Formats: sequence, C-alpha cells, structure tokens
Amino acid sequence: MPKALFVDTSRCTACRGCQVACKEWHGLPAVETKQRGSHQNPPDLNPFNYKLVRFSEHRINGKVEWYFFPDQCRHCDVPPCKDIGDMYVNGAVVKDENTGAVIFTDQTKRLSAEECQEITEACPYNIPRRNTGTGLLAKCDMCIDRQQAGLVPMCVKTCPTGTMNFGEHDEMVALAEKALERVKKDYPNAEIIDADEVNVIYLVQDKPELYYEYVTADASGVGKGVTRKEFLANLAKPAK
Ligand code: SF4
Ligand code: SF4
Repeated sequence: MPKALFVDTSRCTACRGCQVACKEWHGLPAVETKQRGSHQNPPDLNPFNYKLVRFSEHRINGKVEWYFFPDQCRHCDVPPCKDIGDMYVNGAVVKDENTGAVIFTDQTKRLSAEECQEITEACPYNIPRRNTGTGLLAKCDMCIDRQQAGLVPMCVKTCPTGTMNFGEHDEMVALAEKALERVKKDYPNAEIIDADEVNVIYLVQDKPELYYEYVTADASGVGKGVTRKEFLANLAKPAK
C-alpha cells in the first residue's frame, strides 16, 4: 500500500520550515539569494531545493488573498519521468513499491542534458532539475531513508501547522475529503488535486491557476487541443 502526503494549503503560513528542513536533511548547500520583491525565495525549484513554498497575491472581491503552495514532486502512481528515463538508462528512475516513492538514482548522471530535459518536460508538475555540475537529476525522494527507519518525511516532521500530513494513501484521501468540507464553507472553489493519480495530495482553497501554473496535471496544454494529462495518457499506451 503506497504512502502519501496530504498537503492542506489552507493551513500553510509560509513559514518555510519545510523548505529549510528538507535542505538540511538532504545536506543540500545554500544558494545565493537576492531581493526580488517576493518572499518566494529561491524563485524556482533547483537541484538544491527539492521543496519550494510558492507565494501568490490576489485581490478578490476587494480583499487581498495571499496563497501559499509548498511545491514538490507528487510521486505519481504511474510516473511519466520513469517512462522517459527507462527509454535511455535503466535504473535511473525507480519506483519503490513499498512506499510509492519515485527515486532518481545516481544513474541519472548517465543521462544527457537533452534526455534530462525530456524527463522534465514529461513531468506534469514541472519538477525535475538537473545539477549541471554533477549531471545528476534532482528532486524530492519522499525521505525514503527516514521512512525505512520508521520516521516521517522531514517536511511533515517540521511543519507546525498541520499543513503537511503523512500516512497510508487511503487515510490521506479521507483526511483531505474531511478538510475539503471545512474549507469549502469559506472558499467554495476549494478542491483536492489529482488524488487518484499521485501520492502527494494537495488541497487548494481556490482555483489552482491562482497558485501556480503546474498545480494540476492538466493545467498546461501540450500541443493544440491536447492537455498535458491526455498527452501523458497517450505516452503510457503500448505502441501499435
Ligand atoms: Fe516524476 Fe514529476 Fe511525477 Fe515527480 S511529479 S514522480 S518528477 S513525473
Ligand atoms: Fe507551510 Fe508547514 Fe511548510 Fe511552514 S512548514 S511553509 S506551514 S507547509
């Protein structure tokens, strides 16, 4: 039974404890920062930030809404990154059946820059980033080392607000549905994102596109009239 994270963004205060704790646990170095007029820092995921709290501000019905989205790999049930990775280097991307975690291994350094780019483009959530120094492709590993030691992922351990939750997939879906009932009272557009397809389940309190372009799998079209989701479904079909 795969494990899952439930990320209740309605509870997130954007303290970024999860972002920092993730870096610390994985021994990732600091990256140079500068003031860009936003608390979102660094501006995007990179090989040294597997997790990034995204910020967006909106004026809705005369009220300022500040939305926070702790972005990371969704650990897809059928990961397109693995479909592409397997075409080039067997074992570069593996799926741990016990936990459902999708792992990029040291073998990713055998992938060319173009092949890594193809993997990133196949990801419905635009997650993988290549370390140009080592050639490794990088992203969240669901703290599989902690899980194997009976511990919860570092972002869950660190989060002080109940945004980050971890457990069996079914339990997390039930928790998400319960939270949705609560959030919908104040935010009727609230929704749960792609719960049947991923092991990192988000609840957003407003339309996904108000948070970030790649919140849902079908947020961006790939080719005319074909959503990214349809494109990926076609990828998974056997060749005729
Ligand atoms: Fe792979 Fe992207 Fe899915 Fe993560 S979110 S498992 S990187 S396809
Ligand atoms: Fe949000 Fe929790 Fe991360 Fe803080 S630790 S930014 S509250 S998810």
